[in-house]
Formats: sequence, structure tokens, C-alpha cells
Amino acid sequence: MRTVAEGYGLQIDRSGMCLCPFHAEKTPSAKVYPHNIYCFGCGESADVIGFTQKMFSIAEPIEAVRKLNDDYGLHISVGEAPTTAEMSEYHKRIEARRAYEQWEKQAWKTLHDYLWQMRQWRELAPKSPDDVQDERFVYSLHYLDYAEYLCDEFIHADRSGKLAMRSIIDQLKKIQHIM
Ligand SMILES: [Zn+2]
Repeated sequence: MRTVAEGYGLQIDRSGMCLCPFHAEKTPSAKVYPHNIYCFGCGESADVIGFTQKMFSIAEPIEAVRKLNDDYGLHISVGEAPTTAEMSEYHKRIEARRAYEQWEKQAWKTLHDYLWQMRQWRELAPKSPDDVQDERFVYSLHYLDYAEYLCDEFIHADRSGKLAMRSIIDQLKKIQHIM
């Protein structure tokens, strides 16, 4: 969205705000998101195609796609049915994305459960100096900070960063089985 908005003349500041292209204003109240633009002033919103239509008063979405295709050299065969190879490539990409999202959800659950477990075990601290120390409490002394660190890392990592944590997370999953 940003590429197209800037390409068609919008001045976007560092926080993603710009003067609304849909109504006249002096201070920016439109925000550019990865896949669309939304104006907090007039409530207008549009995706890349809708935005292109509005900017150039193009009635048909397909015509806006043609314009984007030309202006940005996208090499899309507009109006032609995709080839079998393109379709299978497309399905493969969708499938890969789904698999990743599923993994991400599961990985987060593993990390979060681990952190929760460490916090629970930390509660098992001996009540008096004579009490025998619970092994789980001792374990949590060693690993609570680590669990917090891992959760924090995961939340802030991008996709490849998250995937780089895969073996650690697999390891935790194995540990959780025997906890
Ligand atoms: Zn507006």
C-alpha cells in the first residue's frame, strides 16, 4: 500500500500518516497500513485497488489492476486464466503459509505453557528453612528468567527469527511431556 500511495504522490510521514487523498485537509489524518489506507477524519478506506480507482476516477477494479500492472511492471496477465503451474505455485504458497501459522500458534502455546509452569513452580518455595526443597522449585529458580526471555524474544521476532527458535521450542515440548 505504501509503495503505491507514495508512487501516486502521497507524502507519508514516519508514523505512516499522510494528508487524506479523499477529502481536503491541512493536517494528516489518513493512515497507511500494509494492505490499505484509512482516514480517521472522513472514515474513507481503500485497499490498493480501491485507492487506485479513487485517485484516478476509474470505475472498474480490473482497469485499476491494469494501471497498477503497467505503472509497477507487475507482469500479471490481466484477464487471462492462470496456468496450471501458476495455480499449483499459488496453492503451494497458501499451504506453506497455513502450515507456518499453525506452527507459530503451537510454538507460542509451548512457550507460554512453559513460562506458566515456571511461575507455578516458583510458588513452591520452602515455607521454612527446615522444609525439603521441592525439585520443581529449584528447577524454576534456574529457568523462570529463561522462559520469560524466550517468550519476549518470540513475540518480537519476525518470521525467520521465530523459525530460528524452532529447535529450542521442540526441546521444550519434549521436556513438557515428562513434566
Ligand atoms: Zn479523509
